[in-house]
Amino acid sequence: MQKHSGRRMLLVEDSRMFSTVLKYALETIHGLSVTHCSSLSALRSAVDDGYGEFSLAVLDLNLPDAPNCEALDYVISRSIAAIVFTGSFNDGTRDTVLNRNVVDCVIKNQPDSIGHLISVVDRALTNGRTHVLLADSEEASRAELLALLRQQQFNVTEAGSGAEALRLLDARDDIDMVLCDIALCDMTAYGLLGEIRQRHHEDAVSVVAASDDRAHAAKFLQSGGTEFIQKPLFVEEFNGRLFQVANIQKRIQALHRLAARDYLTDIYNRRYFFQYGPRMVDQCLRRGGTTSIAILDIDHFKRLNDTYGHEVGDLVLKAVARRLRALVGDEHLLARLGGEEFGILFNELDVSAAHDFCETVRLDIAGAKVIADDEELSITISIGLATIEGPETFDNYLHAADQFLYMAKYDGRNRIVSERTVLKAMVS
Ligand code: GH3
Ligand code: MG
Ligand code: MG
Repeated sequence: MQKHSGRRMLLVEDSRMFSTVLKYALETIHGLSVTHCSSLSALRSAVDDGYGEFSLAVLDLNLPDAPNCEALDYVISRSIAAIVFTGSFNDGTRDTVLNRNVVDCVIKNQPDSIGHLISVVDRALTNGRTHVLLADSEEASRAELLALLRQQQFNVTEAGSGAEALRLLDARDDIDMVLCDIALCDMTAYGLLGEIRQRHHEDAVSVVAASDDRAHAAKFLQSGGTEFIQKPLFVEEFNGRLFQVANIQKRIQALHRLAARDYLTDIYNRRYFFQYGPRMVDQCLRRGGTTSIAILDIDHFKRLNDTYGHEVGDLVLKAVARRLRALVGDEHLLARLGGEEFGILFNELDVSAAHDFCETVRLDIAGAKVIADDEELSITISIGLATIEGPETFDNYLHAADQFLYMAKYDGRNRIVSERTVLKAMVS
């Protein structure tokens, strides 16, 4: 899949040659959906019809019905990021354009201007998906960095001290990069870096330091920092370096996402379940709650494979995973543990509530029909459900659920076995 697949952007350009080449290049290289407008009036209707779906526009400055940057003003007034692509660029226009907070200006009649424009579009869209935590205790310096970051489309959260930065990092999990001054009021960038590396996975956050003392560059990078920015800032260099950091961070995240998914069903895989599960249990127990874990196994799946073939078996696995994903949502952790076996780690759900939830799942799967090879197949699942009350190894929790699953199979399948059902059976 291409990097910016499905994103929509505007191309405001009256030259047929440039618009044809650019539209083709942006669509094939980045997977963007490009709406072309050859005049200001066409631009206005496209934006009105697009219902705020355009986050970016590439604009020629001279259009037949807009000779004085009116298209640029219009795009900015609608909070759409602008990249100027123009032939005429004397000092007068340069100032007018740069004062309007555009992402960048690309001059048309230069070698590889199209290649350059395509990379500027990539930069704006990549930065737009990147969240920067800006930690600087000096107001003026923070304001300068904030303006540059916003102009480059980064999403920014500000912190005035190291302690505030750490608190924000703990509270939210969407921060990709920390940009910090070398000397914060309560700690140095080295101290902040050490704390971040201790609390978070190494790939989770990039840490960039800025200082006017070049002596810090090598030392900060050797301490595990991601990048160093020399002050006073050279804007182009600053933009280039921060984009590189954002770009690599996004690629690492994409690799992590890929490694966490099951190739057939696209839900989380066993590896991720074992990696993330223990942390989720810890959080539940630390909050003083109990929770539950379930193993779900399709009944007589081997028979289904033997009767209809492996491909139909695969279709059934995908259909079951799809239904499970819809039922479980984002609140609990769902994974394919292997073969025709799925795991759900509940987020603070005691065994009674989890039992009710599993019953809904069991009935949903039993009531659904999977259509494969012109046949309607009925599928049932058995579920083993165990309580998590105190700290044990993650394997132990899973083992308990597996034993209940074994009992569910033994008792005739298409049922749930948990502490609750076992106790009920003993009493009656
Ligand atoms: P039970 O009701 O006791 O769970 O019986 P079962 O037949 O479902 O269980 P068993 O463990 O005997 O068989 C599981 C089968 O699942 C065997 C294996 O070939 C099949 N299987 C494992 N992975 C895949 C897969 O990715 N695709 C397909 N189509 N089949 C798979
Ligand atoms: Mg089975
Ligand atoms: Mg099995």
